[in-house]
Amino acid sequence: MAIEPLNTPIQPKPTERMPLVPLPYDRLERVSAWGMNTSVCSYVYRPTTIEGVREVFETARTQGRKVALRGSGCSYGDASLLAENISLDLTRMNRILAWSPETGVITVEPGATIRDIWRYVIEDGWWSPVVSGTMMVSLGGALGMNIHGKNNFRVGPIGDHVVEFDLLTPKGEILRCSRTENTELFYTAIGGFGMLGCFVRITLQLKKIYSGHLSVHAFATADLRGLFQEFEARMGVADYLVAWVDCFAKGKALGRSLVHQADYLPKGVDPVPAQTLRVQHQDLPETLFGVIPKSLMWRFLKPLSIRRSIRKVVRLATTKPIDRRTRHLRSYWITYRTGSLSISREVSFSTRVLCRQKRRKPVSQPN
Ligand SMILES: Cc1cc2nc3c(=O)[nH]c(=O)nc-3n(C[C@H](O)[C@H](O)[C@H](O)COP(=O)(O)OP(=O)(O)OC[C@H]3O[C@@H](n4cnc5c(N)ncnc54)[C@H](O)[C@@H]3O)c2cc1C
Repeated sequence: MAIEPLNTPIQPKPTERMPLVPLPYDRLERVSAWGMNTSVCSYVYRPTTIEGVREVFETARTQGRKVALRGSGCSYGDASLLAENISLDLTRMNRILAWSPETGVITVEPGATIRDIWRYVIEDGWWSPVVSGTMMVSLGGALGMNIHGKNNFRVGPIGDHVVEFDLLTPKGEILRCSRTENTELFYTAIGGFGMLGCFVRITLQLKKIYSGHLSVHAFATADLRGLFQEFEARMGVADYLVAWVDCFAKGKALGRSLVHQADYLPKGVDPVPAQTLRVQHQDLPETLFGVIPKSLMWRFLKPLSIRRSIRKVVRLATTKPIDRRTRHLRSYWITYRTGSLSISREVSFSTRVLCRQKRRKPVSQPN
């Protein structure tokens, strides 16, 4: 099926026909990329209905403008920016349209974030199959970029879990796409950067879980070879794998890392699943040790954020050799949050690891 890209004006170029008609100036806003290194001035529209999105497309067509779709604006670069044209912001289209706790199939509007979704479903024992490093991304944006999580080796990107979606094309037509209907468009629009149209309704298959906790093992690898060996060995069994690589290390220690493996708990292991699956249980405390507001922590840490101290901390965290003690992988409970690891529970663990490391001689001497 031939679909015209969204940012190609369907009408002949305005310069060939007529001068560009300015859009209402009060729509003008500065729109930034997440990295805050780029920002543009755009005419911003925030519709709440499919009809509203269609009207924006209509405006673009008749005025010879281009459209940039924007979910949560979490792309590091300029994927959701288009200077002096229309920014179609979908954050207000964030409703849950249908939910089946029996099958774990959910239908949402494109502006619903991964956070919105897990908070809605977790008490029924379901979880987003793919979670990026931030849970603030919209599902429309997640599909537009076909995002991955720390479990990509196991479950693939988010597109693999989409059941079907409705795509509003630049001409204002709605096409239902799935693995059996409008197949080519289904596979092209997922990861299509929003160039072929706007997802206006998305149906996703979620992942069944039996606890609000994950079992997490943390250990260090001495070098890059060790890191790859550990990943190769664990890829078939782990649900999540992530490595924090010490980029200061050189020579034999090149690639030494701190690795976290996280696994879902099988049914029956968590004695109180109804407790741990509560949304409130997943919310992390606002304070550290019940006293220091986390929002102030950066002030205390700022003086330490210099190359020397960071080098030291990273070195301590990644020089722990895989010895007998660490092969007995430490398990500890950890809450879902970004889908991989939550920081607060890690603090005490890391502190213990760091203290022990001070007394240990690393396998590879760092430079
Ligand atoms: C802290 C952080 C951590 C991250 N970690 C990861 C990670 O682990 N893995 C990973 O893969 N990515 C990661 N990302 C990147 C992020 O997941 C992607 O950039 C994602 O696409 C952002 O979604 P968004 O809703 O913010 O979309 P936006 O940035 O607003 O838009 C992204 C793209 O999607 C298109 N789009 C938006 N809405 C729609 C729609 N309704 N229909 C069609 N197209 C649409 C836009 O045109 C644009 O091209 C991370 C980003 C941050 C800020």
